[in-house]
Amino acid sequence: MLFRDPRRRAMLELALTQVERVLKEMQREGMDLSTLKIKKYQKTHYTSCTCAQCLEAKRANNPHKRGLLEDGYKLYIGLGSEGAEP
Ligand SMILES: [Zn+2]
Repeated sequence: MLFRDPRRRAMLELALTQVERVLKEMQREGMDLSTLKIKKYQKTHYTSCTCAQCLEAKRANNPHKRGLLEDGYKLYIGLGSEGAEP
């Protein structure tokens, strides 16, 4: 688990500190970061997939338990009401 490993946790905190510093810098340069958004995304296997995870998800009737193709975070600037997707 990421947060239970003190070394990984320290690495993550360092990375976050650097991101914060960059964002503050950009704001100081006059960029409007009020619409900055972070979004978690997950791409799961197809509904027809029959791997162990997907079968378990089907049994539990919980699509979130399906096998993952991709799992991550995206940081983007929202463009108001329209075009919120990156
Ligand atoms: Zn699967």
